[in-house]
Amino acid sequence: MQHLSFQELFPHILFADFLRYFLVTGTAYLVFWVVFFKRWRHRIIQRKSPEVKKMWLEFRYSMSTVLIFALIGFGILSMKNAGYTLIYDNFAEYGGWWFIVSLALMLLLHDAWFYWTHRLMHHPKIFRHVHLVHHRSINPSPWAAYSFHPIEAVIEAGIYLLIVFTIPAHGLALFIFLVYMITRNVLGHLGIEFLPKGFLNNRWLNWHTTTTHHDLHHKHFNHNFGLYFTWWDRWFGTEDPKYRETFEEVTSREKVSEKPIPARVLKILVGAILLTNVAYAQSPVGTWTTFDEDKGTPRSIVQIEEKSSLLEGKIVSLYLQPCEPPDPVCSKCSGEQKDAKIVGMRFLWGFKKVDDKWTAGYILDPGNGTTYRSNICLENADTLKVRGYWGVFWRTQTWKRVK
Ligand SMILES: [Zn+2]
Ligand SMILES: [Zn+2]
Repeated sequence: MQHLSFQELFPHILFADFLRYFLVTGTAYLVFWVVFFKRWRHRIIQRKSPEVKKMWLEFRYSMSTVLIFALIGFGILSMKNAGYTLIYDNFAEYGGWWFIVSLALMLLLHDAWFYWTHRLMHHPKIFRHVHLVHHRSINPSPWAAYSFHPIEAVIEAGIYLLIVFTIPAHGLALFIFLVYMITRNVLGHLGIEFLPKGFLNNRWLNWHTTTTHHDLHHKHFNHNFGLYFTWWDRWFGTEDPKYRETFEEVTSREKVSEKPIPARVLKILVGAILLTNVAYAQSPVGTWTTFDEDKGTPRSIVQIEEKSSLLEGKIVSLYLQPCEPPDPVCSKCSGEQKDAKIVGMRFLWGFKKVDDKWTAGYILDPGNGTTYRSNICLENADTLKVRGYWGVFWRTQTWKRVK
């Protein structure tokens, strides 16, 4: 085979490694957390959405892992070209059976490698220097699939070296293995249990790990170290004692049904809306209730006004949680708003009307002092969709008009 230089080959490997991460992770995030979110929200294992800030951190660490995987990938390819590895190109050399057996061996070897290196990284002397980065995601999102400290990324990549020097593997078998590995990694951090209830009662299937299995590892740290299979955790007594119970609880939850409002009630409501809200029917101007994203309970009442063709909003009152101070201040805010009272605070500004949307504005979350780029769209006269952006991520909140 023709020998390509680092400059010629490395960008391609880097791009392929990035695509492998980004396509699988992005697809999982879009399908479960955006497009079909309503269908899956009752299955959110820890009952709360991953924080946008954390997802951004997970993404950044994953990029450093992609770089490390690509460097090691380049090394392996160079060694293959020099004839040092057991990777083969001619399918007939080992035949169809070996192709399947080699795939199974790769998975078994990787599972063992992962379990034992993972336990090693949980050793108190090593944990905080290496593996803590991955465990900063207590409620992980799919973007955490590659969220490793650089040393952990090198340890994770050790399996590639182990395979290419011990198992004769066809290039296609290696490719399938890599795709399965990233898919399993992404699903382990999905945060939503998508498998059917009863999966763990099936003795032919329950040797495979589930999303709940790895999610519990992030929540409790000290159990469920396995990757693909459950047997190492069972043999060495490290399976989370609450694993089966948690899986049953999550998969038994009722789907949140959105019952249609009876036609008679709808008529009365529409009449009332027309009578009281004609002036503001097509505008976000007015008073709105905001809701806690995780619990769905009312969080605050806010007032939106239009000033010089721009929207501006302030917090009118708060639904205080137990133990919250009666008149809380924004301790995490910066600048002028540092320690300012939250009630009365100007928290929304700069939205401009473009077609049927209000865009390019900002919203300050007094809970964490962060300002988000944001768009507002009036879904109907009484429902406002507020979308906040953080880097490439976004979250949409629904606000309801106060009558
Ligand atoms: Zn993890
Ligand atoms: Zn761990």
